[in-house]
Amino acid sequence: MRIGFGYDVHRLVAGRSLVIGGVDIPFEKGLDGHSDADVLLHAVADALLGAAALGDIGTHFPDTDERWAGIAGVDLLGRVAGKLLEAGYRTHNIDATVVLERPRLQPHVPRMRAIIARCLSVDEDAVSVKATTHEKMDAMGRGEGASAFAMCTIVATDRNG
Ligand code: MG
Repeated sequence: MRIGFGYDVHRLVAGRSLVIGGVDIPFEKGLDGHSDADVLLHAVADALLGAAALGDIGTHFPDTDERWAGIAGVDLLGRVAGKLLEAGYRTHNIDATVVLERPRLQPHVPRMRAIIARCLSVDEDAVSVKATTHEKMDAMGRGEGASAFAMCTIVATDRNG
Protein backbone atom coordinates (compact mmCIF):
# COMPACT_ATOMS: atom_id res chain seq x y z
CA MET A 1 0.00 0.00 0.00
CA ARG A 2 1.21 3.53 -0.82
CA ILE A 3 0.00 6.89 0.51
CA GLY A 4 -0.43 10.10 -1.49
CA PHE A 5 -1.18 13.73 -0.68
CA GLY A 6 -2.56 16.47 -2.92
CA TYR A 7 -3.28 20.17 -2.49
CA ASP A 8 -4.87 22.71 -4.81
CA VAL A 9 -6.14 26.28 -4.68
CA HIS A 10 -8.10 28.44 -7.11
CA ARG A 11 -9.39 32.02 -7.07
CA LEU A 12 -13.12 32.75 -6.93
CA VAL A 13 -14.14 35.18 -9.68
CA ALA A 14 -17.31 36.50 -11.27
CA GLY A 15 -18.44 35.04 -14.58
CA ARG A 16 -17.38 31.45 -13.94
CA SER A 17 -19.36 28.36 -12.91
CA LEU A 18 -18.58 26.93 -9.49
CA VAL A 19 -17.68 23.28 -10.06
CA ILE A 20 -16.43 21.34 -7.05
CA GLY A 21 -16.17 17.58 -6.89
CA GLY A 22 -17.79 17.43 -10.32
CA VAL A 23 -20.93 19.15 -9.00
CA ASP A 24 -22.17 22.40 -10.57
CA ILE A 25 -23.04 24.50 -7.52
CA PRO A 26 -25.31 27.54 -7.89
CA PHE A 27 -23.35 30.62 -6.79
CA GLU A 28 -22.58 34.16 -7.99
CA LYS A 29 -18.91 33.32 -8.56
CA GLY A 30 -16.85 30.38 -9.79
CA LEU A 31 -13.30 29.11 -9.56
CA ASP A 32 -10.89 30.55 -12.11
CA GLY A 33 -8.42 28.52 -14.12
CA HIS A 34 -7.35 27.10 -17.45
CA SER A 35 -9.55 24.03 -16.83
CA ASP A 36 -12.87 23.95 -14.97
CA ALA A 37 -10.72 24.68 -11.88
CA ASP A 38 -12.33 21.86 -9.88
CA VAL A 39 -10.17 22.34 -6.82
CA LEU A 40 -11.31 19.12 -5.12
CA LEU A 41 -10.82 16.81 -8.09
CA HIS A 42 -7.43 18.40 -8.79
CA ALA A 43 -6.29 17.72 -5.21
CA VAL A 44 -7.54 14.12 -5.44
CA ALA A 45 -5.79 13.63 -8.80
CA ASP A 46 -2.52 14.99 -7.39
CA ALA A 47 -2.80 12.71 -4.34
CA LEU A 48 -3.19 9.67 -6.62
CA LEU A 49 -0.31 10.67 -8.89
CA GLY A 50 1.79 11.38 -5.81
CA ALA A 51 1.05 7.98 -4.29
CA ALA A 52 2.28 6.31 -7.49
CA ALA A 53 5.22 8.76 -7.80
CA LEU A 54 3.94 9.71 -11.26
CA GLY A 55 4.49 13.47 -10.95
CA ASP A 56 1.56 15.88 -10.75
CA ILE A 57 -1.32 17.13 -12.88
CA GLY A 58 0.79 20.12 -13.94
CA THR A 59 3.21 17.80 -15.74
CA HIS A 60 0.52 15.53 -17.24
CA PHE A 61 -1.95 18.29 -18.20
CA PRO A 62 0.10 21.50 -18.58
CA ASP A 63 -1.91 24.74 -18.81
CA THR A 64 0.34 25.75 -21.72
CA ASP A 65 -1.23 22.96 -23.80
CA GLU A 66 -4.50 23.95 -25.48
CA ARG A 67 -5.61 20.29 -25.49
CA TRP A 68 -6.34 20.69 -21.77
CA ALA A 69 -8.08 24.07 -21.94
CA GLY A 70 -11.38 23.79 -20.12
CA ILE A 71 -10.88 20.10 -19.30
CA ALA A 72 -13.46 18.92 -16.76
CA GLY A 73 -12.15 17.70 -13.43
CA VAL A 74 -14.02 14.42 -13.88
CA ASP A 75 -12.29 13.87 -17.23
CA LEU A 76 -8.92 14.70 -15.70
CA LEU A 77 -9.49 12.39 -12.71
CA GLY A 78 -10.60 9.57 -15.00
CA ARG A 79 -7.42 9.98 -17.04
CA VAL A 80 -5.33 9.92 -13.86
CA ALA A 81 -7.07 6.70 -12.78
CA GLY A 82 -6.08 5.26 -16.17
CA LYS A 83 -2.45 6.29 -15.68
CA LEU A 84 -2.43 4.59 -12.28
CA LEU A 85 -3.85 1.41 -13.75
CA GLU A 86 -1.18 1.44 -16.46
CA ALA A 87 1.43 1.77 -13.72
CA GLY A 88 -0.09 -1.21 -11.88
CA TYR A 89 -2.07 0.51 -9.12
CA ARG A 90 -5.69 1.03 -8.14
CA THR A 91 -7.28 3.37 -5.61
CA HIS A 92 -7.90 1.97 -2.15
CA ASN A 93 -9.43 5.02 -0.45
CA ILE A 94 -9.63 8.81 -0.57
CA ASP A 95 -10.05 11.37 2.22
CA ALA A 96 -10.39 15.01 1.20
CA THR A 97 -11.27 18.37 2.71
CA VAL A 98 -12.45 21.45 0.81
CA VAL A 99 -11.98 24.89 2.35
CA LEU A 100 -14.56 27.41 1.14
CA GLU A 101 -16.24 30.23 3.02
CA ARG A 102 -19.43 30.36 0.96
CA PRO A 103 -21.65 28.70 -0.27
CA ARG A 104 -22.23 25.75 2.04
CA LEU A 105 -20.97 22.57 0.41
CA GLN A 106 -22.45 20.03 2.80
CA PRO A 107 -25.65 19.47 0.74
CA HIS A 108 -23.51 18.55 -2.30
CA VAL A 109 -21.10 16.16 -0.56
CA PRO A 110 -23.05 12.94 -1.32
CA ARG A 111 -22.98 13.68 -5.06
CA MET A 112 -19.28 14.60 -4.93
CA ARG A 113 -18.52 11.25 -3.28
CA ALA A 114 -20.55 9.38 -5.88
CA ILE A 115 -18.82 11.19 -8.76
CA ILE A 116 -15.32 10.59 -7.39
CA ALA A 117 -16.13 6.92 -6.68
CA ARG A 118 -17.34 6.47 -10.26
CA CYS A 119 -14.22 8.14 -11.72
CA LEU A 120 -11.97 5.84 -9.71
CA SER A 121 -14.08 2.64 -9.94
CA VAL A 122 -14.35 2.27 -6.18
CA ASP A 123 -17.28 2.03 -3.75
CA GLU A 124 -18.64 5.28 -2.35
CA ASP A 125 -17.60 4.20 1.15
CA ALA A 126 -13.99 4.35 -0.07
CA VAL A 127 -14.40 8.10 -0.70
CA SER A 128 -14.62 10.67 2.08
CA VAL A 129 -15.27 14.36 1.33
CA LYS A 130 -15.39 16.94 4.08
CA ALA A 131 -16.08 20.67 3.90
CA THR A 132 -14.98 23.47 6.17
CA THR A 133 -14.76 27.26 6.16
CA HIS A 134 -11.64 29.28 6.97
CA GLU A 135 -13.40 31.02 9.88
CA LYS A 136 -13.35 34.35 7.96
CA MET A 137 -9.54 34.48 8.26
CA ASP A 138 -7.11 35.35 5.48
CA ALA A 139 -7.80 35.23 1.73
CA MET A 140 -9.86 32.03 1.88
CA GLY A 141 -11.89 33.46 4.75
CA ARG A 142 -12.60 36.62 2.75
CA GLY A 143 -14.06 34.45 0.00
CA GLU A 144 -11.25 35.14 -2.49
CA GLY A 145 -10.81 31.47 -3.32
CA ALA A 146 -11.11 27.84 -2.39
CA SER A 147 -8.55 25.22 -1.50
CA ALA A 148 -8.62 21.47 -1.13
CA PHE A 149 -6.47 18.86 0.58
CA ALA A 150 -6.63 15.18 -0.31
CA MET A 151 -5.00 12.02 0.91
CA CYS A 152 -5.28 8.63 -0.67
CA THR A 153 -4.01 5.09 -0.44
CA ILE A 154 -3.40 2.98 -3.50
CA VAL A 155 -2.61 -0.70 -3.81
CA ALA A 156 -0.80 -2.72 -6.44
CA THR A 157 -3.05 -4.54 -8.85
CA ASP A 158 -2.46 -8.27 -9.43
CA ARG A 159 -0.34 -7.37 -12.44
CA ASN A 160 2.18 -5.80 -10.08
CA GLY A 161 2.04 -8.67 -7.63
MG1 MG B 1 -6.08 23.18 -10.01
